[in-house]
Amino acid sequence: MQEIHNAALAYYHNLSDELKQKASEKFKEMDSNDNGTISIKEFRRSLGSSEIKRCFKLLDKTGDGKLDFNEFITLYYLVESGRGVFCDGHGCKASPFLNGLYFTCVECFHNNEAATFDLCTSCYRDGKYVHNHASFLDNYVFLRSKAACESTTPTEDDHHEVTYDQFILETENDI
Ligand SMILES: [Zn+2]
Ligand SMILES: [Zn+2]
Repeated sequence: MQEIHNAALAYYHNLSDELKQKASEKFKEMDSNDNGTISIKEFRRSLGSSEIKRCFKLLDKTGDGKLDFNEFITLYYLVESGRGVFCDGHGCKASPFLNGLYFTCVECFHNNEAATFDLCTSCYRDGKYVHNHASFLDNYVFLRSKAACESTTPTEDDHHEVTYDQFILETENDI
């Protein structure tokens, strides 16, 4: 998580003033009582997930039960950069943030479904998931094989990017 937080801060510092403004606006949007921090209540109201406590704890570096702007930036980075991947494993402890290696359903990816079906290593290994496709590849192998097959340059549509709305939608679906 520290690595991601550092990446998030680097990302934020390189944003244009306009995008920095946008990040501040998102923060203010979640901070409904305007006290400069996001409480777990406000966080839940914005994201509404069963995984919310774990997610909040991961983001709350100081452990004071509140997210300041610095901590919020990590969430912003994960969402904006599309690095906020969700494990679809049943009752997964790694969810909602999957970093590094994970497995993705090849068919869902190729069919351009609304969302990809992704699993962390332990859910995939232990078969802790229900899905109607059986062919999974880890994200690194997958990206390499995809790049090798394609002669054309990837379009925007090839990226699975999580927008704020999708992020909220996906977490709401967990309830
Ligand atoms: Zn699938
Ligand atoms: Zn998992």
